[in-house]
Amino acid sequence: PAKNLDEIMSFCKRRGFIFQSGEIYGGLQGVYDYGPLGVELKNNLKAAWWRANIYERDDMVGLDSAILSHQMVFKYSGHEDTFSDNMVDCYDCKKRWRVDHLKDGQCEACGSKNLTEPRPFNMMFKTRIGPVEDNASFAYLRPETAQGIFVNFRNIVDSTFQKLPFGVAQIGKAFRNEITPRNFIFRVREFEQMEIEFFVKPGEDEQWHDAWVETRVAWWQDQGLSKENLKLFVQPEAELAHYAKKTVDILYNFPHGLEELEGIANRTDFDLGSHSKEQGALNIKAKVNPNEHSITKLQILDPKTNENCVPYVIEPSAGVDRGILAILSEAYTEEVLGDGKERIVLKLKPHLAPVKVAVIPLAKNNPDIVAKTKVIRKRIQALGIGRVSYEDTGNIGKSYRRHDEIGTPLCITIDFETIGKDGDPALFNTVTIRERDSMTQKRVHLDDIETTVRGYF
Ligand code: ATP
Repeated sequence: PAKNLDEIMSFCKRRGFIFQSGEIYGGLQGVYDYGPLGVELKNNLKAAWWRANIYERDDMVGLDSAILSHQMVFKYSGHEDTFSDNMVDCYDCKKRWRVDHLKDGQCEACGSKNLTEPRPFNMMFKTRIGPVEDNASFAYLRPETAQGIFVNFRNIVDSTFQKLPFGVAQIGKAFRNEITPRNFIFRVREFEQMEIEFFVKPGEDEQWHDAWVETRVAWWQDQGLSKENLKLFVQPEAELAHYAKKTVDILYNFPHGLEELEGIANRTDFDLGSHSKEQGALNIKAKVNPNEHSITKLQILDPKTNENCVPYVIEPSAGVDRGILAILSEAYTEEVLGDGKERIVLKLKPHLAPVKVAVIPLAKNNPDIVAKTKVIRKRIQALGIGRVSYEDTGNIGKSYRRHDEIGTPLCITIDFETIGKDGDPALFNTVTIRERDSMTQKRVHLDDIETTVRGYF
């Protein structure tokens, strides 16, 4: 695993995973861009989540709601009033800090204890809507994707005929004006979330909460995070958000410390109740603010009892970027080889690897080898396993090292024997397949190449 964040940051930049956003202008703090390999890794992680939560289940559907959000959504969700962190200013150096990030009440920049009283700072970004500049016409950039699910509850139930228990899953960008973004992509102002709102009958919420915690931990392990680096943290009652009955965080042992990767909350009927009209008639158990604007009752009919209820909701909410950071930190490995040489190898699970297979011509100036390599590249690409790359940037040893470092599980080399121009005639139409982790090589006939490659993914 990576020793520290600096090692991961420089690796990410060097190999094209993640860049500071706006770097040529000095950088935009707390905002990052995903490079050519980063975007592949991120897409693969999101696809794995989507597969596990939508395609492999019968009780979930997907959603892609908008980032620009109606003001009322975040008024009645409670974010306008409570989505804030406490902030202090340093009288001496004028820097601003989030209170609960400070050590010993000291300014992080100059060490002064001469700080203002803490005051709340709302973390939502606002943006103007339309050509008129007045204070009324603004929208929020959503600080979480969850609310898009709650406010579409009626639409989803009416169009897809869900019955309890069922869930809605969504992946998308969220924005928070963090007072002090830090630790690379761990705490940023623009990030992505993978969120599930799982609706259940009141009374069945506790067992579903437990089940989701288990499911989510197992999923992170399937992405390559080791058991020893994952810890559960049950939030003490005094620290619970006002709407939560119980919250369990999945913590990961990041290079900068043990911190939250995903939160799984039992939010009761707070959200649907808050966004409903005629709340008095709905038997809502949570304490909700009166809603004067909603035009819909967010309830569901139980066909067995023929009664309506406002479901409870279990919310597993994970950060894509924190997931990427955890996976990269865990996979990053420096190995000393038998010959005293060292290599860096990114031990990613094959389904997450940005490049699945590198296809390498042993002699990049030999037209027959090049032509054959291109044909094989196309054949492997057609398997639909993900990105296959044609690699001719250095000698064969360098190509292997380069692909070890970016986590490519397989390299396929085409040489003179493949085209029948050298060596053992029995090797005509065979290629060398090299595995990333074991570095073992084997010769495979082209007739078997698709089956062999498929076996790895
Ligand atoms: P924290 O306490 O670390 O600020 P949170 O408890 O406010 O996080 P939630 O509101 O529960 O976070 O959001 C769910 C998930 O979204 C988190 O577990 C995390 O993975 C991700 N997330 C939240 N804020 C950020 C951020 N500023 N940068 C990157 N990911 C974030």
